[in-house]
Amino acid sequence: ATPMSVMVGVGKAAEAGVLIRNGEALQTASKITTMILDKTGTITEGEPKVTDVLLTKNYSRKEVLMLAASLEAGSEHPLAMAIVDSAKAQGIDTKKVDGFRSIAGKGVQASCEGKALLFGNEKLMKDKGIVIEQYIEKAQEFAQEAKTPMYFAINNTLAAIISVADPIKSDSIAAIARLQKNGIRIVMLTGDNRLTAQAIAQKVGIKEFVAEVMPEDKANKVAELQEEGEIVGMTGDGINDAPALAHANVGFAIGTGTDVAIESADITLMRGSLHGLADAIAVSKATLANIK
Ligand code: ADP
Ligand code: MG
Repeated sequence: ATPMSVMVGVGKAAEAGVLIRNGEALQTASKITTMILDKTGTITEGEPKVTDVLLTKNYSRKEVLMLAASLEAGSEHPLAMAIVDSAKAQGIDTKKVDGFRSIAGKGVQASCEGKALLFGNEKLMKDKGIVIEQYIEKAQEFAQEAKTPMYFAINNTLAAIISVADPIKSDSIAAIARLQKNGIRIVMLTGDNRLTAQAIAQKVGIKEFVAEVMPEDKANKVAELQEEGEIVGMTGDGINDAPALAHANVGFAIGTGTDVAIESADITLMRGSLHGLADAIAVSKATLANIK
């Protein structure tokens, strides 16, 4: 494309809230054959809320929430915000914790008032030898309702399963359908568990998804699809998505997402809506058509 037509295209896209950082990305966008979509914060709002607190030991709901929120106060994960907000809404004050540690893709740990706390997914509990077998089925029920269940252990014993739900953005279904109409293959990637991922994918009409992806493996998935000959677009909002955004043929960041994601991407969707993807592709097509 000529520099002039690219400039016009960049301006048109900006009107739709799509910020294009480089002209090359604009030209590649119309050639995308596969679009990878992150789940949390990309397809969904990224603002999960606590829906269920299932107590599994003789701790009160209040004590469980106090300890869980004290632990999560040290985490920046959207799931952590849900726990902290829920405690706050119920007037529960958090306490200081020691030895806070975040275990990427799995959860968090610390100690509080002499109690060892562990909060996260099935993988984390298995790594730490916490017995959860009796409750896996219950967690799976939550997951099938598109909720994310997390296990909370106090002193190495399961004390609760806390579930959160993250609403799907109101226009994600329509925006994904638009991409599919353009013949684009859609793959959803998430660190969340398989059942929750499946429930969300089904709701938004996505057939292909990879769940329980460790943060470092998102970029590997991009590379894998590229090796299959796909021109890969990647859309994400999190720190975890940054390497994949940089690796993709075109990286799209959600404007409400983390700075790291925005800096790693070629294009930013300022309105946070996935309609920006089909808008960018349409502008890209028009730009290329202009110079023929
Ligand atoms: P994603 O952002 O795609 O959900 P992550 O890799 O950040 O993926 O997290 C994967 C899983 O690890 C979460 O679904 C959750 O079960 C667990 N996890 C991560 N961070 C936390 C946290 N701060 N508290 C509890 N669980 C967590
Ligand atoms: Mg995300």
